[in-house]
Amino acid sequence: MRKRTPEQRQAAADARAHQRQISSAYARAYRRQGGRRLRASYLLVIALLLGLGLGIGLTWPSSRSNSPSARRSDIRPVHRQHHSPIRTHRTQPTPPAPTTPKRHKRPGPKRVVAAVPRPRIVWQPIPFGSSRRAETTAYVQRHYDHHWGSGSWRLIDPRVIVGHYTASTTFASAYNTFAADTADSELHELPGTCAHFLIDTDGRIYQLVKLDTVCRHTVGLNWTAIGIEHVGMSDHDILNNPGQLKASLQLTLWLMQRFHIKLADVIGHNESLSSPYHHELYPAWRCQTHGDWTRADMNVYRAKLAALARRYKAAVGPPSQSRPTSC
Ligand SMILES: [Zn+2]
Repeated sequence: MRKRTPEQRQAAADARAHQRQISSAYARAYRRQGGRRLRASYLLVIALLLGLGLGIGLTWPSSRSNSPSARRSDIRPVHRQHHSPIRTHRTQPTPPAPTTPKRHKRPGPKRVVAAVPRPRIVWQPIPFGSSRRAETTAYVQRHYDHHWGSGSWRLIDPRVIVGHYTASTTFASAYNTFAADTADSELHELPGTCAHFLIDTDGRIYQLVKLDTVCRHTVGLNWTAIGIEHVGMSDHDILNNPGQLKASLQLTLWLMQRFHIKLADVIGHNESLSSPYHHELYPAWRCQTHGDWTRADMNVYRAKLAALARRYKAAVGPPSQSRPTSC
């Protein structure tokens, strides 16, 4: 081995010291880098755990909720899960709110509309056999164009309810008048007059004619109107008889709901000429009406009907407007 000079030995010692400095610097740098990686790993694990917790938190309560809106919103993530190969709702817990259409949230709880109950009705039919049906068909064809109504004794899709009073004091006298199929004393035509319902002074409701049958009670409107007679001598007899009035309002509201008839189309006989459904081919009959149930009295009746409808949250439309007539 060749002997080194002192200068060479000093240079080798300096080189070893420098090498040690470099190594320790690398070691420190490596440890720092390792620490950062470790911290990054910790952060990643925490983020995953948080994400998992958030995902569970979002899906759990909705799956246990019974509200219709919650049921709708929790259908969406589950539905997506079935079609995706990756259960993305856990690793990427997208909140369901932004994906839920606004229309599901805005209305809030659905308005519950209670059905208007059918009042007790006694079926007490008047004779309405084939001859009376034929007379009614002939009447309809004489007084209405064929495109107004069915063109026959059949009542289809009634649009109007007309209130009457009988100008008599007993159920029996009114019933007998309607049952006898004789020409009326005023207009002298067949079939005889009638009404679908007759409400007695004690509040009992009798149905005399089926609701698929045209009944002759209001000139100009028989093709589309349901007729309700009240035993009494005036509008005020009925308005001041609580039992009879209550029965009348319940029956009328039930019929309105059943046939989708608006409040404005519940009219008194005296309002017949201003009804938008009024139609009459006989020129001499076009301005014919009766004095029962004036507009003033029907406004009282309709206000009570609207109040009853509110109890059932039933939409009945606006109150009737006064319409001019050519009569
Ligand atoms: Zn009348």
